[in-house]
Amino acid sequence: MSRVYNFSAGPSMLPEAVLAKAAAEMLDYEGSGQSVMEMSHRSKVYQCIIDGAEALLREVMNIPDNYKVLFLQGGASTQFAMVPMNLMTGNGKADYIITGQWANKAYKEAARYGNARAVASSADKTYSYIPETKREDFDTEADYVHICMNNTIYGTKYAQLPDVGDIPLVADISSCIASEPLDVSKFVLLYAGAQKNLAPAGLTIVIVREDFLGKAMDITPTMLNYVTHAENGSMFNTPPCYTIYVCKLVLEWIKNEMGGLEKMKAHNEAKAALLYNFLDNSKLFKGTVEKNSRSLMNIPFITGNEELDAKFVKEATAAGFVNLKGHRSVGGMRASIYNAMPMEGVEALVAFMQKFEEENA
Ligand SMILES: *Cc1c(COP(=O)(O)O)cnc(C)c1O
Repeated sequence: MSRVYNFSAGPSMLPEAVLAKAAAEMLDYEGSGQSVMEMSHRSKVYQCIIDGAEALLREVMNIPDNYKVLFLQGGASTQFAMVPMNLMTGNGKADYIITGQWANKAYKEAARYGNARAVASSADKTYSYIPETKREDFDTEADYVHICMNNTIYGTKYAQLPDVGDIPLVADISSCIASEPLDVSKFVLLYAGAQKNLAPAGLTIVIVREDFLGKAMDITPTMLNYVTHAENGSMFNTPPCYTIYVCKLVLEWIKNEMGGLEKMKAHNEAKAALLYNFLDNSKLFKGTVEKNSRSLMNIPFITGNEELDAKFVKEATAAGFVNLKGHRSVGGMRASIYNAMPMEGVEALVAFMQKFEEENA
């Protein structure tokens, strides 16, 4: 068996130890005589799995007790509608910062349900930076401010949160969840598709402050009302059972193997620094993001020559470095180095890039 280094933006690499554990438990989960894929979500043994996943997420992310953790389906994209339907109900207004395609999709969806306003945007430079905002830029009557914390396609991340005063803050953390410590209490709602950093596809995690529940618009479908899921322990209907199980294994790995989010952050910073340092000193490759907006998770880069970019992607793929092609909207290359990408993977990539640079100088 030979495994590649997978730099996919999502779904993405899972820790090998997690895959091995899932494989070992595939036919007979803890003496139950069945796979987690097959068991009733109403069984005692499954209840332990979902409870364990929630408890671990709370512990690893240090989630305060006055927040609900919801395990949902529909991807982060469904949250683009759920957030306004559930929260844009005080004054019917919300402020959005447009830092890329996902943030823009969230904004456009919100505009269908109320008065959504784009406060700032970095579209002028292909979203290669996080726009600066001041407290006065935000509407004090807004029901919330929405940001996308880590911009997967462009490789930008908020170095610090915008100052929004007393306005509730909502963030899409799909591509940075559990990559480093985050002060959950700064937000009223966080959401993430789990397929980047925590699990296979099919699970969406929502972390919502309890006092922001129960405000949904009358038109809100039952399945899109957070209360429905909060009141039923994410079991109003069948949850994505197997994905939640793998999420639990990944959280165990973060806690026990990686040593928690402080250590995870140090590990991610070391990996990113290796690649950024190489890019900053390379004569062929260069990063595309302003230095103070750089992501730890997604690192886009180019040679400046589209043909050479294509040649690089082709040769890298053949050498076992897969999914390095940039998003179709921006071109170039992008290395997504989520939690599960080992340091050796980044070291090997940098060595390969160095060799490519010498051969194509
Ligand atoms: C991948 C991604 C999305 C879309 O997630 P889906 O689960 O496919 O709907 C939204 N926001 C960000 C930041 C992402 O990285």
